Amino acid sequence: MSALKLLRKLAGFKGLTITGFCFSGGRLHLQVKLSRCGCRCQQCGRRGTIITSSTHDSRQWEDIRLGAWVLILHYMPREIHCLTHGRGQEQIPWAHPKSRVTYRHDYQLLRLSQQMTQSQVAKLLGVPPSTLSGRLHRAIERYRDGHEIENLHYIGIDEVSYCKGHKYLTIVYDLERSVVVWIGIGKARKTIDHFFGEVLEEWQLDEIKGACCDMSDTFIGAIEDFCPNAVLVLDRFHVMKALNEALDEVRKEQWRNAPKEGRKALKGLRWLLFKHAGNRTKKDTRDLNTLQKSNRRIYRAWVLKDEFNRFWEYTYEASAASFLKNWTKSALLSRLEPIRKFVRTLRGHQHRIITFIKCPLTNAIAEGLNRMIRQIRNRASGFRNVECFKDLIYLTVGDLDIAGEIPEDQQLVWL
Ligand SMILES: [Zn+2]
Repeated sequence: MSALKLLRKLAGFKGLTITGFCFSGGRLHLQVKLSRCGCRCQQCGRRGTIITSSTHDSRQWEDIRLGAWVLILHYMPREIHCLTHGRGQEQIPWAHPKSRVTYRHDYQLLRLSQQMTQSQVAKLLGVPPSTLSGRLHRAIERYRDGHEIENLHYIGIDEVSYCKGHKYLTIVYDLERSVVVWIGIGKARKTIDHFFGEVLEEWQLDEIKGACCDMSDTFIGAIEDFCPNAVLVLDRFHVMKALNEALDEVRKEQWRNAPKEGRKALKGLRWLLFKHAGNRTKKDTRDLNTLQKSNRRIYRAWVLKDEFNRFWEYTYEASAASFLKNWTKSALLSRLEPIRKFVRTLRGHQHRIITFIKCPLTNAIAEGLNRMIRQIRNRASGFRNVECFKDLIYLTVGDLDIAGEIPEDQQLVWL
């Protein structure tokens, strides 16, 4: 076997033949040519006729590492004529037309970035971290270019914080497929309006059958304005979170007002109060019974919270509505200000909560994805800008398998 054939086999190339090589500056430069005869159009992939045997400017593409060497491919693309697209450069099987790196390089970059921190990937690929995020961004743009959101029927909208909780991203989820379909910077009305008004077409808006969000007027307003056919359901977890916060407010109030010796009894209560009935142990029940005698206000608030959980189990809207009416009445009588405040908020949204009974949508999937997004945020700690954070979200939990867009024969089998 000749040295060139051996080199081709070692590097695992497909679609090209090596005609010469040289080592320089930590790189292994390879002169290559296409294995197949003829030439194809860059845009449609159909055969064309060669106009010039080269465009006279040799191009180079950075490939993956082979041992200690980064492979660099050199080739002079030919100019061709396509019946549909006219004059243009021929299609190169190893790289995207707009790219200066090979498909294999992109594939490696994308797959590794899905699983490792940016600095680890940079180290492994031998590029500075600052270069890496730029390359990743360009790669993601290349393969997401022209991608359209399809079959969007049930959506969830939520916000995710970054920059130590000072800034926000608005995230739109496809609740059927459990993926992120869109990310916007900020959480203001204009951000979400941009998604509904400019990203989606009118027929796509008509296709949305259900939407789920928290109690913020921004998201509710946008959904009601733009999605005429969607049932709006307030997210169960956000409602319960707001009620838990009200309950915690009562607990804090009692803690502040309690004398020093009385505080001992209130210690470690927080998690016990938040616990769902299904996860309660016998000891928890005993502790709650003690609470009934030791602090009636916290106990009363807890009972109200616990009762509210029953609402989600109703199957008939009328019975759910009457439950809600009775619950609201007794909560207002409780003289617990944080709970009463919750009730006042709830009253404004009552019709959007009852929709849960016939359309049990929740952002539970979104919560799972949010957990992954928080991991991405930690993995990208010190990400250079918010675009980089967005890139990683699209790459890891987005609606398109970005690396899967690379031609199959150019994907690396070991990744
Ligand atoms: Zn063509």
